[in-house]
Amino acid sequence: MNDGLIEQFAAIVGTRHALMQEDEQAPYLQEWRGRWTGKTPIVLRPGSTEEVAALVKLANETKTAIVPQGGNTGLVGGQIPDGSGEQIVLSLGRMNAIRAIDPDGMTMIVDAGAILQSVQEAAEEADRLFPLSLAARGSATIGGNLSTNAGGVGALAYGVARDLCLGLEVVLPNGDVLSDLNTLKKNNTGYDLRNLFIGAEGTLGIITAASLKLFPNPKSHTTAFVALESPVQALALLRIALEKAGTALTAFEIIPRFGLDITIKHHADIRDPLAEPHPWYVLLEISSLENSDHADALMNTIVQGATETATVIDGTIAANEAQRDALWALREGISESQRYEGGSLKHDISVPVAKLPAFMMQAEALVFGWEPDARICAFGHLGDGNLHYNVSQPASAEKTAFLENGKQLSARLHDLVMEFGGSISAEHGIGQMKTRDLEHYKSPVAMAVMRSIKQTLDPNGIMNPGKVLQN
Ligand code: FAD
Repeated sequence: MNDGLIEQFAAIVGTRHALMQEDEQAPYLQEWRGRWTGKTPIVLRPGSTEEVAALVKLANETKTAIVPQGGNTGLVGGQIPDGSGEQIVLSLGRMNAIRAIDPDGMTMIVDAGAILQSVQEAAEEADRLFPLSLAARGSATIGGNLSTNAGGVGALAYGVARDLCLGLEVVLPNGDVLSDLNTLKKNNTGYDLRNLFIGAEGTLGIITAASLKLFPNPKSHTTAFVALESPVQALALLRIALEKAGTALTAFEIIPRFGLDITIKHHADIRDPLAEPHPWYVLLEISSLENSDHADALMNTIVQGATETATVIDGTIAANEAQRDALWALREGISESQRYEGGSLKHDISVPVAKLPAFMMQAEALVFGWEPDARICAFGHLGDGNLHYNVSQPASAEKTAFLENGKQLSARLHDLVMEFGGSISAEHGIGQMKTRDLEHYKSPVAMAVMRSIKQTLDPNGIMNPGKVLQN
């Protein structure tokens, strides 16, 4: 890219917000685990929708590729430019305002660069709940959450990011602004354009703002951590919990012993809350609009029912907020802890909930048939049928060789997921990691429709090329 064009881009945002030095660009060019790194002539940090529109218009006229970026917490490399040094990075981080909150209408409007945690806190201040929640909430942005259609721990009761969005403001690849920040629950006026951009991972336009759904703020939570023999019991517990609590069941996360072991090993402040080790655990949470007695009573009924049927073999219920945080730390520390255990083959998969135990049995046979010393770390959102079916290298293995050989295993695991009627990307998206898998597993008709939408909206192919769809 020539210097004149770089200067034109910089002039739109002002030189202070156009990053050209290696050290200031570095945080935008590397995925946090170091799995993807890229190059760029310039990182642009616009401060308004008008600036985004001007940048995109110039990029379209000059056929310059743009990589939108929010909090850079994505796990499939969608937010990282390629190595050509020709793609510009457009970071939404400065556009982080909470534009409006309507507690009576149960809606809020926020800039796309608003950090998820600050959106949750703003809702809380208005005594409302914005229920999307994930371990990366302190860095991930609403624009990134919507662009990846994030799931997270609240999806069981409240749905995924798509379910929580009422309207969007999007800068289209030609620089036009599609402004549809409506806060209506009912609005049947033609094609639902908003849903095109949700989950598009920045390949169809840049989300600059969103109107979101709010919910009544629960007055109490009761969190339990229970031990079980196997995923079959976990499914039985889910059935009991849903029958007793319905939508008051707001989290249901499965954790294997290996996940707990490595989290304890790599976090000095995290302890096993139970006296004896067990093969599997579930962290479940009840949220109530009434006082804590109500949430406690519901949880006690669930745990009692599960103990009577020998579904649960041990467990503890958090007695206060500090204990609740300690139980959640067991779940949220797993991803990071895996990094310290060498190479890990990641599979963000979902299958119909009732089929999860059977899937897990067959998947385990595949893994150990391939490498008897591999360490399976299958954890996550069991209530949604969504597992992070990760396979850590044997302790003594060489990381690069393990990851290279593991490609065969990943392909077989993904084949198995498809046999079970599942998805090879439940909540993280496709990014640059799974473009071949998408091509392989998605029907040719669906791929053709996706390509024609891309071609219509972005004929010059400037929006996040090489992500979702192969170049
Ligand atoms: P980025 O990583 O910056 O970008 C992600 C994608 O969205 C890229 O393709 C990018 O180009 C595009 N994009 C970003 N902003 C915009 C925009 N404004 N307009 C258009 N495109 C845009 N994900 C889950 O779903 N559930 C989980 O439970 C979960 N847990 C996680 C735990 C940890 C510890 C970490 C590190 C990640 C986790 N993730 C999870 C993944 C990640 O946090 C989500 O994908 C998140 O939604 C990404 O938000 P972001 O702002 O960081 O986006």
